Amino acid sequence: TELSRIRNFSIVAHIDHGKSTLADRLIQITGGLTDREMKEQVLDSMELERERGITIKAQTVRLNYTAQDGNDYVLNLIDTPGHVDFAYEVSRSMRAVEGSLLVVDASQGVEAQTLANVYQAIDANHEIVPVLNKIDLPAAEPDRVKEQIEDVIGIDASEAVLISAKSGLGIPDVLEAIVNRLPAPTGDREAPLKAMLVDSWYDAYLGVVVLVRIRDGVLKKGDKIRMMSTKADYQVDRVGVFSPVMKDWPELGPGELGFLTASIKQVRDTRVGDTITHEKRPCAQMLPGFKPSIPVVFCGLFPVDANDFEDMREAIEKLALNDASFTYEMETSAALGFGFRCGFLGLLHLEVIRDRLEREYDIDLVTTAPSVVYRLQMRDGTVRELHNPADMPDLTHVEEIEEPWIKATILVPDDYLGAVLKLCEERRGQQRDLTYAGSRAMVVYDLPLNEVVFDFYDRLKSVTKGYASFDYQIEGYRAENLVKMQILVNDEPVDALSTMVHRDRAEMRGRAMCEKLKELIPPHMFKVPIQAAIGGRVIARETIRAMRKDVTAKCYGGDVTRKRKLLEKQKAGKKKMRQFGKVDIPQEAFINALKMD
Ligand code: GDP
Ligand code: MG
Repeated sequence: TELSRIRNFSIVAHIDHGKSTLADRLIQITGGLTDREMKEQVLDSMELERERGITIKAQTVRLNYTAQDGNDYVLNLIDTPGHVDFAYEVSRSMRAVEGSLLVVDASQGVEAQTLANVYQAIDANHEIVPVLNKIDLPAAEPDRVKEQIEDVIGIDASEAVLISAKSGLGIPDVLEAIVNRLPAPTGDREAPLKAMLVDSWYDAYLGVVVLVRIRDGVLKKGDKIRMMSTKADYQVDRVGVFSPVMKDWPELGPGELGFLTASIKQVRDTRVGDTITHEKRPCAQMLPGFKPSIPVVFCGLFPVDANDFEDMREAIEKLALNDASFTYEMETSAALGFGFRCGFLGLLHLEVIRDRLEREYDIDLVTTAPSVVYRLQMRDGTVRELHNPADMPDLTHVEEIEEPWIKATILVPDDYLGAVLKLCEERRGQQRDLTYAGSRAMVVYDLPLNEVVFDFYDRLKSVTKGYASFDYQIEGYRAENLVKMQILVNDEPVDALSTMVHRDRAEMRGRAMCEKLKELIPPHMFKVPIQAAIGGRVIARETIRAMRKDVTAKCYGGDVTRKRKLLEKQKAGKKKMRQFGKVDIPQEAFINALKMD
């Protein structure tokens, strides 16, 4: 396709402002799908994504559109994930397109993720078309929202497109705006192939599928290609586009988005952001900005039932095939038996993977306390990475313990600024910057990642009623006064609950964890002491009172079936617990014990 007839764009929006509904409408009106196929929303189809209202994998759709100028256009829509854990995936998909539709719910106005996402689009040099959605609602105030977009984001909203994605009103105007207001891509068809690896995933029938954006040159079936960062060579089996179902296509030229398959064995052989070129006639330079996503949060995953270990191994291998930012290695624990130490991009990523293991593969799991990666400067001059506080070596060999720090950027309406500052200070934050944009404050803080991974984002949302947006990047390591805190349940140390904490905050943390565990661990027939200790010294203590009553006691003898049912229910409930010594600890305790509120 001729460059001037291509438009590539993404849709950025706060959750629930209508991104998926608009995408579906665009697909429908351009004839991509039948009504029956439309019934299932196309762009975020995974059950989990739907439930959590997030999109994890970027997806793309190619639309054919005959514009009012009489010309045929190809419009490529790329869907982007919407959560900070996946910020790198968002920024990279943004770099694959030239423009964005900024969708704002006209009855709600600009909200947290509107800002976070639109700044990503601005960073990627996008042309931006504001679209005010839900104007069918009586509460819609398009004029006020236009003004707000200009004040807060600083872009011209006078020509915002007014639509109702639900009724279909204004959708043709959106298509015309895409054609007339977004720039066509540029590129040189004669130059050596230069394509960006935007995304990749594992398909049961096709193997690894790679989403590419061609900058220069032409990609065809049979080509010998090279991944520039790994220098791995492949022969292309298939080239195609998403319409939105995958469809073979003769070639992809400059400005186009599509897929290739090339007998690539696993997703980890493809690096997101990498440059793809021809083996024989490579391009001179890689595309800028390539960086692999590295896992920053680690935790142990163990099957509740040891018999599930092999199933779990298979499931983990399958998930890892499709997710290069998820890492795993086998781990054994005295209390938990065989399991895996796994690495994730953040806590949401962890929860998504754990949910999928439990739901799609039907495996009950114990998740140990998540930890960031610590760096140990050893007395003998070597440096070690610590993925698991349980593996902390004898302190006499350790010169210094370093932890990762982040630079966090938070955008928040004035009213909640105080609450945000307080939260950051509580988490050992150091303020770097505070500026205003309209009635919003932009706060920049240095924070230890350890204080952020567990529940910072949840807390931020709750103290700002969802109006804050948050983004972070890792800045480097700092030596801090860190100690390993152990938790003893019924006088036995539970390694899976060990954490690294700052010395100054150890007492507070220890107390909070003991209190939390007291709520999370059900009463037993005997009393259960819970203690937090540092190097053998107890710093906090709680006791769970003994339970006396039998669960069947309230059945007053008579009804035997009911009694049996209750016992079965109790047994099923137990399945989700794990025994430590004589004490059953429910699986959710391991993560929840770390959440502070
Ligand atoms: P997303 O989270 O941005 O993808 O939002 P969705 O497209 O899933 O829409 C969120 C909710 O808003 C759904 O219940 C939609 O039916 C509803 N919605 C979307 N567009 C409109 C609209 O134009 N008018 C009204 N009244 N509701 C809409
Ligand atoms: Mg959606």
